[in-house]
Amino acid sequence: MNLKATALFGLLVSISSQTAGAAVDRVDPPNWWVGMSDPSLQLMMYGNDIGSGSLVSKSGDVTISQVTRGDSPNYLFVDLTIDASADPQTVEFLYTAPDGATSEVSYLLQARRENSSDRQGFSARDAVYLIMPDRFANGDTSNDTVDHLHESADGQHPYGRHGGDLAGITKNLDYFTQLGMTQLWMTPVLENNQKDSSYHGYAATDLYRVDARLGSNADYVELSRGARKRGIGIIHDFVPNHIGSEHPWMYDLPTNDWINRDAEFSPTNHRREAHQDPYASDFDKEEMITGWFVPTMPDLNQQNPLLATYLIQNIIWWIETADLSGVRVDTWPYNDRTFLSAFTGRVLAEYPNMSIVGEEWSMNPATISYWQKGKQNHDGYDSGAPQLMDFPLQQAIREAVNEEERWDKGLVKLYQVLADDFLYPDPMGLMLIADNHDMTRLYPGVDENFDRYKMAMTFLATTRGIPQMLYGTELLMNAGPNGDHGRLRADFPGGWSGDRIDAFKGKGLSDDVAAAQDFISKLFTWRRDATAIHNGELLHFAPRDGIYVYFRFNEEQRVMVVMNNEPNTVHLDSSRYAQGLAGTTRARNVLTGDRYKLADRIRIPAKTAQVFELD
Ligand code: CA
Repeated sequence: MNLKATALFGLLVSISSQTAGAAVDRVDPPNWWVGMSDPSLQLMMYGNDIGSGSLVSKSGDVTISQVTRGDSPNYLFVDLTIDASADPQTVEFLYTAPDGATSEVSYLLQARRENSSDRQGFSARDAVYLIMPDRFANGDTSNDTVDHLHESADGQHPYGRHGGDLAGITKNLDYFTQLGMTQLWMTPVLENNQKDSSYHGYAATDLYRVDARLGSNADYVELSRGARKRGIGIIHDFVPNHIGSEHPWMYDLPTNDWINRDAEFSPTNHRREAHQDPYASDFDKEEMITGWFVPTMPDLNQQNPLLATYLIQNIIWWIETADLSGVRVDTWPYNDRTFLSAFTGRVLAEYPNMSIVGEEWSMNPATISYWQKGKQNHDGYDSGAPQLMDFPLQQAIREAVNEEERWDKGLVKLYQVLADDFLYPDPMGLMLIADNHDMTRLYPGVDENFDRYKMAMTFLATTRGIPQMLYGTELLMNAGPNGDHGRLRADFPGGWSGDRIDAFKGKGLSDDVAAAQDFISKLFTWRRDATAIHNGELLHFAPRDGIYVYFRFNEEQRVMVVMNNEPNTVHLDSSRYAQGLAGTTRARNVLTGDRYKLADRIRIPAKTAQVFELD
């Protein structure tokens, strides 16, 4: 742990009460910055009976424009305007309780990181590795069980806390570089002090604190710093739709309408297309957005402007604090639509090149494209999300390699999903998914067939968009075909002391697993420098006789990918592909280094995808 950083975090808010009267115990956000593009800031102050008190700013640079009480007597919402020329400083507020007792609240306004607003998000240049921090590597066994948090470590229980943490990820940053990965998406790292099954992180009980079993806020900053040094960005999993049922708000609601459905469980209908459906009833739309996922995840009412502001400031705080490169937004269409636009608008105003990827788990490209920034929609809505997850292509990849070739089966599935790209303002902004933490892993998803696995991953690495892979997919990790969450989120081998298999060091791996890891590493290391894949055009030829050929090209590089889904070798007749070849005559296989003359009909083995650089 970094002691200096820990001390800093401890000092962000220092609150001193000069009398025994009502006093402010907590302020969210815990600090802020000068020089933000939006000069406004709303503080949520919490303390026993503080709601009827008053507040005065002692700083000439910070003006209180409005103070709003909650329905609970224990909250005060304070709207501030920070002068554009303000220097970093500690702002002193004088709080006066109803009985006249006074106390001081110190609030830190820091300098921003250099070039913070110009930070680059992720893009098709990148490959994203998805980690569930509790299940990846245990870098600090002293935090496996923490006194003040409910759940203790239980490594044997599929739904228990296993002890993985941020220190374990930091320790293994070089592994991601070896794999050719350039972004880490961690499932949520915030405190989830739920009574059970809290390991997944989607039921936050403090939106400003890393779960102590994963580490500290300082550890998160340290992880991000280490990753940045290696050219790896950090994607924060943002869950604005819901909190955990043990969040302190559930015991003291700031306002009566803070939680949807009067703070009582009432399920969502999961009819996500109600957003786009021209015939949708108000009942369905309302139930979709305000219904809860599960009883342990109360659904936030983002139509409440105080809460909407709280959530938007929260993600800006994490971007600035943890130096993030991107935001992944959980359960995208379950959020309030107006909130989504306001959130993306504010984040992109502050960080114009930031990435925000929404999780709309639909198999219909029309539905997904509705949400992409710049889409001309029938109802005039624009959510402002630059990136979205591509679930239609995720499904198509598995079908394509699993099915025998026919007119309407096999590789044509890939071709057809891509043909729908005209719906998207920016198809390159789609995140392609080999697998994630909510679905059957790729290897069992292709019937444990290594050839199919390699074809799927080769396609993922070379078609348009931003490839993303779940941790352990490079090791053919396999939790069976039913996608049981606890099992598919198994511990990464080598992350725990005493592990017989250590995939970080390549120890104890079976031949198949070692071959898979080597394959992924070679493929994505090549991709890291392949500019035609990062920003090039895509040109493809309709699959025929089990062969699908496509090209990626820009001014400096031309790549040809040949997928052979037949059970026999073919020799490529390149005459059909003249448009993609563009006069090139030679090809080099990017994984084997073998060189060919295109006129010689390159041999494409059965059930393979071959990648060639052309010249
Ligand atoms: Ca640990």
